[in-house]
Amino acid sequence: MIGMRVCKVFLGGCLVLGAAPSPAADVLLQHLQVYDGTGRASFAADVRIKGERIVAVAPHLRPTGLESVVDEHGLALAPGFIDMHSHGDRGLLEDLDAGTITRQGVTTILVGQDGESHYPLADYFAKLQATPAAINVASMIGQATLRAQVMGQDLYRASTPTELEQMKAVLAHELAAGAFGLSTGLEYEQAHFSTTEEVVELAKIAAANGGFYISHVRDEANGVFDSYDELLRIGREAHLPVEITHIKLGSVPVWHKAAARLPAYFDQARREHIDLRADVYPYTYWQSTIRVIVPDRDFFNPAKVANALQVNGGAEAIRLTRYSPEPAMAGHTLAEIAAAWGISPVEAYMRIVRATIAEVTSGVEMEDIIGTSMSEDDVRWFIARPEIMFCSDGELHGTHPRGAGAFPRILGHYVREEKVLPLELAINKMTGLPASKIGLRDRGRIAKGYVADLVLFDPAVVIDRATIEHPQAPPLGIPGVMVSGEWVVEGGRITGRHPGVVLRPVAAGR
Ligand SMILES: [Zn+2]
Repeated sequence: MIGMRVCKVFLGGCLVLGAAPSPAADVLLQHLQVYDGTGRASFAADVRIKGERIVAVAPHLRPTGLESVVDEHGLALAPGFIDMHSHGDRGLLEDLDAGTITRQGVTTILVGQDGESHYPLADYFAKLQATPAAINVASMIGQATLRAQVMGQDLYRASTPTELEQMKAVLAHELAAGAFGLSTGLEYEQAHFSTTEEVVELAKIAAANGGFYISHVRDEANGVFDSYDELLRIGREAHLPVEITHIKLGSVPVWHKAAARLPAYFDQARREHIDLRADVYPYTYWQSTIRVIVPDRDFFNPAKVANALQVNGGAEAIRLTRYSPEPAMAGHTLAEIAAAWGISPVEAYMRIVRATIAEVTSGVEMEDIIGTSMSEDDVRWFIARPEIMFCSDGELHGTHPRGAGAFPRILGHYVREEKVLPLELAINKMTGLPASKIGLRDRGRIAKGYVADLVLFDPAVVIDRATIEHPQAPPLGIPGVMVSGEWVVEGGRITGRHPGVVLRPVAAGR
């Protein structure tokens, strides 16, 4: 029964349930420049790994004769990166190597995002335990998933008190399966009509289980600051940490406001003892459904659609990346499509929504767009800010380059080329910081006793190569990635090993 592994972070240790996995070979990595995940300056050391754990970090460790010894010639070693918002669970059971993720140095993904999680979560975890992947998986519970379980397809409204009680019961059950808290995607139809009070009541259940709240906020564009107020209110009233995920200022009227407006939110949170968190992906363009740009869902109101296109940078700034009713339109901007159809961009928008609206209830995605609606200065501000973590928001086989490039893009483009932040801080924001915020006590750091989730990279070379044209292109400069003491990427190649585990929180009764 190799592979029946459930990792519970427990008293700083890791309980491995089920039969023992095959032992990883012991390894001594010599001549490393260690970025230990704490944010402190790097240092030269050797690292010894025994089984799944780091057992020594020091200069000039002497080989024991019982281990494989590898001279890394001064390459950098960091803890495995933690992706705070991933859709890498889509298709993971069919692609257990998860090469799109591991090649970036990511060893743990947090899924169940935007209000949608596997249901029941216990079944998904059981599948992952039976056929483990190369990466570790942690999950949130999605509020839209709870709504769908209780309210069916009747989601364009607030829940009733009875439905809310039922959702709370489902949530408690799902949290007990080992989730880290509650996620919402309040910008999406399935959740947009839920009241703040509904979310607060659900968040209280997450809080009682030691969980946190992560949100794709209600409006990422003109109303974004109201959305942050709502998120803080949820943290205040439900008494739990709150995270703005894939933080962005996504429309022209709110561009260039990060430096002026965001510090006040962090200051207010500190004053009120609310643990406010955020994560960001390093791109100025987002990907979502074309419907999100009309916030009140009045999709067929020409004046509102015209305004939505304008605040999102115009029809030239919106590129269709998937359109199943007419696949040839994928890759073209809304302006080009309107010209091809001989209609206005507003009419083209409405035609696309009409042809794909069934995806709201069917769950089968028919369209998505990439919108170039963020400003570079805001993205840089988020990337540099010490308390803001990183995410990809990516998929294993997605059409946005963030799925294959987010983490190396930070290291290569924003750290080395643009000098937006120091390397040790970037590593901390990918490792030690998210591990502590999620509550992973023995990951996210290179130190004795920690699990050997590790990334070997060359700071002078590392760079993303994924583009809109080639969204799957793997990065350069990341020759080795280890999960629980086993190489999943070695010499730049996928090894086919699958040592990943399901991560669950520490909590009484779990
Ligand atoms: Zn999202």
